[in-house]
Amino acid sequence: MVDTQEIEVIRAAKSKISEVDFDNLPFGKVFSDHMLLATYENGNWSRGSIRPYGDISVSPAMSSIHYGQSIFEGLKAFKSESNDVLIFRPEQNWERINKSAARLCMPSIPMELFLDGMKQLVDLDRNWVPTDNDCSLYIRPFMFATDPFLGVKPSDSYTFMIITSPVGPYYSKPLHLKVETEYTRAALGGVGFAKAAGNYAAAMLPAKIAQDQGVDQLIWTDAKEHRFIEEAGTMNMMMVIGDTLYTAPLTSTILPGVTRDSFLTLARDAGINIKEESVSTDMLIESIENNSLKEVFGVGTAATTAQVQKLTFKGKTYDLPAVESRTISNSIGGLLLDIKTGKATDNKGWNTKL
Ligand SMILES: *Cc1c(COP(=O)(O)O)cnc(C)c1O
Repeated sequence: MVDTQEIEVIRAAKSKISEVDFDNLPFGKVFSDHMLLATYENGNWSRGSIRPYGDISVSPAMSSIHYGQSIFEGLKAFKSESNDVLIFRPEQNWERINKSAARLCMPSIPMELFLDGMKQLVDLDRNWVPTDNDCSLYIRPFMFATDPFLGVKPSDSYTFMIITSPVGPYYSKPLHLKVETEYTRAALGGVGFAKAAGNYAAAMLPAKIAQDQGVDQLIWTDAKEHRFIEEAGTMNMMMVIGDTLYTAPLTSTILPGVTRDSFLTLARDAGINIKEESVSTDMLIESIENNSLKEVFGVGTAATTAQVQKLTFKGKTYDLPAVESRTISNSIGGLLLDIKTGKATDNKGWNTKL
């Protein structure tokens, strides 16, 4: 057994940070100086290695390319006013990647490799964590199968990596979403609850069709009847109808978002009525028509709280209440961001401070 706790560090000869325009950060195109890599073979993980960010070489027969045995995570680190680096709830992502791994027949990742490796990597590149309010360091851990073998079976070898990218805001304005009633993101018993690479490939065509129609993203509905609201793009969806906050319950088709859980926790603390229940498209449209729909928004790490301004269902477009009037998403979303950036007290112990 290799001691996975000892992580090897090979530093970049020269930092690329001076080439980066931190005032105009695109999402996910700029990467920090270092990355983490570990390999799994013969039932064991190698010692993790932090090394200069760069290309990797793989076999053209690598099984993840052919059969999609590939999973990922996404989380963020923020810089507080006192220059601490705060990583938001990384242990949740560690637990979730291992649930994704189990579903895709992949090995679990040791806590030391995932969490201690991440902390060391982010600490080494801490100058890359932006200080600006809306900006953060996006952390992308991922694992893929590496057997050079075309047989369809679980791979025996894997690579786990973490790369990081300084990012600005994901969506810059409120969204126009279309309720998708033809294509499906996830079916019961499938892999919708896992952050499996193939889920995102399957969503690209329907999203592109919607975008060609002038819509930003989709609202996914259940695979069987296309009657119940599930997620919005790659975010969990929330709606305020009357004085109740609704979001879909965590079935095998819903990705259990860390933002979803954090938002619900803060909303519960604030005494807001919460129903983790499926909302039908009928109920949604009826609530628009009788003016009981107060707020619609998506929640996720990349977008944080993404307001939905317009909604298209069966060819008809509905305008939703003004974003400024939305008390729940504005107050809870604001509090959540303040906790992440160290402006509000983190009395849940959610932040890992470096
Ligand atoms: C990642 C993701 C989310 C949001 O999860 P967070 O942990 O809040 O970032 C929601 N839905 C889908 C489909 C996702 O991939």
